[in-house]
Amino acid sequence: HNHIDHATPEKVQAAIAARDTHAHLPDYETFDAYAATGGYETLKTLRDSGHWEAVQEKVLSSGLRGLGGAGFPSGKKWGFVRAGDGPRYLAVNGDEGEPGTFKDRYYLERTPHLFLEGMLIAAWAVEAETAFIYMRDEYPAVLEILRHEIVALEEAGIVDPGYIDLRRGAGAYICGEESAMIESIEGKRGIPRHRPPFVAQVGVFDRPTLVHNVETLYWVARVCREGPKVLSGTEKNGRKGLRSYSVSGRVAQPGVYLLPAGSTIMDIIEAAGGMADGHAFKAYQPGGPSSGLLPASMNDIPLDFDTLQPHGSFIGSAAVVVLSDQDSARGAALNMLRFFEDESCGQCTPCRVGCEKAVKLMQADRWDTGLLEELSQAMVDASICGLGQAAPNPIRLVMKHFSDEI
Ligand code: SF4
Repeated sequence: HNHIDHATPEKVQAAIAARDTHAHLPDYETFDAYAATGGYETLKTLRDSGHWEAVQEKVLSSGLRGLGGAGFPSGKKWGFVRAGDGPRYLAVNGDEGEPGTFKDRYYLERTPHLFLEGMLIAAWAVEAETAFIYMRDEYPAVLEILRHEIVALEEAGIVDPGYIDLRRGAGAYICGEESAMIESIEGKRGIPRHRPPFVAQVGVFDRPTLVHNVETLYWVARVCREGPKVLSGTEKNGRKGLRSYSVSGRVAQPGVYLLPAGSTIMDIIEAAGGMADGHAFKAYQPGGPSSGLLPASMNDIPLDFDTLQPHGSFIGSAAVVVLSDQDSARGAALNMLRFFEDESCGQCTPCRVGCEKAVKLMQADRWDTGLLEELSQAMVDASICGLGQAAPNPIRLVMKHFSDEI
């Protein structure tokens, strides 16, 4: 008989503490280093004499849109949140759980203060009473860095103690959905809310809440410090701006690549050092599993907001995964649906039961395409949130572009 080591709350706490103290901390820009190069000067100037509309105008003219996946114009959100009476809150979505996405981690492990200053600028713009940071627990180094640097901000008098409230997620993908994240911040089970009302009006503790992704705030700081041109000054294939692509799969050098937002998959593969040795490009996931799979023949589409919609896909958080001739598109799609089956919060039937049925149908030797299409439509029409609505994308795209495999 195996000895079972029951996890008491004390043991769990001890394990977490041991893990956190042993977190490998990368070389990152500390508060002192950031402040020495003009860091937080912008925030101070704004707090002393700035007008939030002027900053909003700057952010709007830069073209910055939400980089967590939804792509809503960032400056516009500020106006919606300000329209509601206080107290208001800011909640940062750092629950980077989209498979293949690691750009927020990349920035936080290198330049955490660009993010923190951007967050405080946004908090100032909407007069937030508290800034919540909801950070995924799978990033122990990031948590450790943030803990240190928040204390540094408090000691420097830039924020009052407790103003920044760092919360840890607990590994649920659905808590990256903004309303589920808010439920979780409130201490409840993380399940998406029905909308309307939108979180800009009824968010954390039913107050108007500004929700931003980590990278979005990183760019807010850069736009305020360097001007809107830092984003809008780049143009390619008729698209303006820059995008941080998290690139993985069969490329020679996986990593985060900051490229023009009009980049195609060929530009991205080239930036990542080309295909890995012995692999021929076959297919790609443009933006997380919810974006499905596109064939290598569709290689001239700029991977930007709005450009992929006509093809039944979207850019989401720009998590690009490259597949080769040694991979099965059908297998990849099944893997994506298994992920959604696991991560469905279970609140609504089309998604909870739909993902499970889809996985069973996709395991058959031959796919029943009629039934899978009918199921996909029911999920798109009737699921409460984006998880269930987008889960059929991989099914539909494989049926369309890789019919020989199914
Ligand atoms: Fe939950 Fe899925 Fe319904 Fe979203 S679509 S609320 S994840 S069951």
